[in-house]
Amino acid sequence: MNSSLLCSYSACGSRDVVESLGLRSVLGQNLSSEMSLIYADRDVHVTGPTNWLEQVWFSYIGYLGDFQGVVVFYLIMTCCYVFTGILWGIVDYLRLWKEYKIQPDKYVDLSGLWMCIVNIAQNYILVIVPLLFVGYPLFKWLGFSSLLPLPSWTTFCAHFAFFMFAEDLSHYFFHRLLHTPWLYKNIHKMHHTYQAPFGLTASFAHPLEILILGFCTFCGPLLLSPHYFTFFMWILYRQLEAVFTHSGYEIPNIFEKLPFYGGAKAHDYHHKVFNCNYSSRFTYLDLLFGTYRDPK
Ligand SMILES: [Zn+2]
Ligand SMILES: [Zn+2]
Repeated sequence: MNSSLLCSYSACGSRDVVESLGLRSVLGQNLSSEMSLIYADRDVHVTGPTNWLEQVWFSYIGYLGDFQGVVVFYLIMTCCYVFTGILWGIVDYLRLWKEYKIQPDKYVDLSGLWMCIVNIAQNYILVIVPLLFVGYPLFKWLGFSSLLPLPSWTTFCAHFAFFMFAEDLSHYFFHRLLHTPWLYKNIHKMHHTYQAPFGLTASFAHPLEILILGFCTFCGPLLLSPHYFTFFMWILYRQLEAVFTHSGYEIPNIFEKLPFYGGAKAHDYHHKVFNCNYSSRFTYLDLLFGTYRDPK
């Protein structure tokens, strides 16, 4: 059975009508040609969405299909990254929230901003877009699912927590590796161009660093083969978290309630002094291996 099926199947449900032959719609939803073909070769009794979130998901994946769904998600994620980066840029430009600024009086100039934008455009177009074409067949092979029902909240939270810890753990060791002399000089030094980072600098990096530390973001999902919904939410969270930890501001937030949470202040300090606080969000590994320094 094709793993990219949209809906779960039930033996009952006469109202769940799929149009015969063309199968252009299910429960009033237009389906992509890919989805119609998937439905076409089976005894189709489908259970539809049971809440608004499943309705949104059903409409999204049903209309686009899995691959286009991944591509459009990439575009949405990129827009969110740019939008939040610009918002933090406006905060910087207008000198708002000075009380939360981690390195007071350090603001980016126009040439620094332009250099960052050019690098990010290169990374998002020349590195990440080709990765979509490599990643999608891998996700399919691993069994990432777009089926309804969506995962339960307990499954969603368990997967999400695992992704956070897997990313943090792998990021710590790969990041430390990137600070060895040859790798630092030839790859990671670029990311440290800005000693006082700002939101958009989250992805300002050498293309190889995008691949290396990007792997850390993907290693949890590659191990668990989650539902695409969980996967998308995780990637979006990770992107926005990276913007936040590079924002240069320490804004009170709910993640501070997590034990050993380092956040923006810890990573900002890493950019300032280079040789400490290698984890992406937690501090326990830095504490364990003696690389933590309190930003104060
Ligand atoms: Zn950084
Ligand atoms: Zn570093």
